[in-house]
Amino acid sequence: MTTPPTPTPRGEERLYFDAAAENRLTYQTCDTCGSTVFYLRALCPHCGGESLRLRESTGLGTVYSYTVQYRASHPYFAGETPMTLALVDLDEGFRLLAGLTEADDVAVGTPVEAVFRDSGDLALPYFRPRGHEEDPK
Ligand SMILES: [Zn+2]
Repeated sequence: MTTPPTPTPRGEERLYFDAAAENRLTYQTCDTCGSTVFYLRALCPHCGGESLRLRESTGLGTVYSYTVQYRASHPYFAGETPMTLALVDLDEGFRLLAGLTEADDVAVGTPVEAVFRDSGDLALPYFRPRGHEEDPK
């Protein structure tokens, strides 16, 4: 079986993936300028501040946009096409690109919630329309 393509977490990415392994979605806020920061970084991209606070998202958001991918980008995903990928605006003010489950019910503006799936040694966030009870694993 093909193994999934996964990143090798470095620096702040380790904090993100450690939390994801516990089904928690994290982001940062800047103590200097108050901005929401995502992905996790060492410096605020808005003001250069070095004091970034790790926060936990509710995982609730809405679909900003989405696309359907009919050709697998990697052999591991060959059995998962068509695959719906979405830009999700989280309620805390950051945007995340992720896969959607139960994509038949999705449109721009659909309220969604994060669910986590194992991918190799990591867990990755996916989103599904709110109110669905399917176990994503
Ligand atoms: Zn800042």
